[in-house]
Amino acid sequence: MSMRGFELYDATTVQEAVDLLKKNAKRPTKVVGGGSDLVGGVMKDWVQGKGMPIPEVLIDITTIKDLSGVQAASDNITIGATTTLSDIVDSKDVKQRIPLLSDAAASIASPLIRNFGTVGGNLNQRPRCWFFRGEDFNCYKKGGDFCFSVTGDNRYHAIIGGELCYIVHPSDTATALLALNASAKILGASGEKTVAFDKYFTGPRVDVLRENILKPDEFLTHVVIPNPAPGTKMAWTKLKDRQVYDFALVSVAAAFTLDGTKWKDGRIVLGGVSPVPYRAEVVESALKGKDVKSSISSAAALIRTVARPMSMNAYKVDLAQGLIERTVLAALGG
Ligand SMILES: Cc1cc2nc3c(=O)[nH]c(=O)nc-3n(C[C@H](O)[C@H](O)[C@H](O)COP(=O)(O)OP(=O)(O)OC[C@H]3O[C@@H](n4cnc5c(N)ncnc54)[C@H](O)[C@@H]3O)c2cc1C
Ligand code: SF4
Repeated sequence: MSMRGFELYDATTVQEAVDLLKKNAKRPTKVVGGGSDLVGGVMKDWVQGKGMPIPEVLIDITTIKDLSGVQAASDNITIGATTTLSDIVDSKDVKQRIPLLSDAAASIASPLIRNFGTVGGNLNQRPRCWFFRGEDFNCYKKGGDFCFSVTGDNRYHAIIGGELCYIVHPSDTATALLALNASAKILGASGEKTVAFDKYFTGPRVDVLRENILKPDEFLTHVVIPNPAPGTKMAWTKLKDRQVYDFALVSVAAAFTLDGTKWKDGRIVLGGVSPVPYRAEVVESALKGKDVKSSISSAAALIRTVARPMSMNAYKVDLAQGLIERTVLAALGG
């Protein structure tokens, strides 16, 4: 299949990117990072629909110098949106302060993809649902009026929070960044704003055509991760299935503080289970004030109370329960 022509602009400043987004507001326009998802996936496979037109204008933001790199300040780390996943894995500051993010980035795809895939692209990549990625399925997410996963093969779909559409959020860095209480810096025609990742990702109930709050004229410029409180325990684990490349069947990012051996404060976030990176608050609150080691098994089991598996994916509920327990114990160091 041949690729239809599109206009490609190399933005050299963030302002230029904003101006291009504004100028092309009436046409399907996308910013592009490494292009591994957008150009190599969506456009190559010709995935489109009424609610998802093939882009006519691409704005390359990897040509903006200020947007690439890891900057360590005394109280946070700022990562530019075009920083590659490899650069995150290689960053000593990230490894030292927030190893959870190094581990999550290192678990993504292959070295080749990590070398050109950007963190902005990873966070904003479109879902992997095989009906969504197949041209013959005009589903809700493309502006159609059906979800093929409900009656079809839904073994990799959502077990929590699906509604109308049952995708799982594909980004491993998203899961890790939510556990680290990070924020997104967003720039658009109406200026700059900072939004916690808690509020960045949105499910199908908000808008089935999108997975986050970005408006068409906005893009992500930086990710800001505050220094974790001293003594924070953290760990990342991910279960994969070769049949779906290297995407998570279920992943868990845990970051928490202790009061002696007791859970003080923190987050347990699951990937691969829900249309958004999913914070397992039911587990967190069961651990509050409790001895973590002796309570984690019964606390992890509470994930069953919020899970609503589909016809073929009840196995993921067991995986999630087991992986929550394993990850929290790993963070404790044993
Ligand atoms: C075989 C394979 C295996 C993979 N396995 C994994 C995995 O295990 N875990 C995982 O997390 N990912 C995985 N990925 C996804 C891969 O990591 C992403 O494709 C990559 O990170 C996207 O980065 P990119 O810069 O190439 O994105 P692009 O293709 O450039 O962009 C992706 C999307 O994000 C948008 N976008 C890009 N930058 C911004 C920005 N700054 N602001 C707003 N929107 C933006 C684009 O418009 C586009 O819609 C895999 C991909 C492949 C092909
Ligand atoms: S799960 Fe979502 S993306 Fe997949 S077929 Fe259903 S509506 Fe489409």
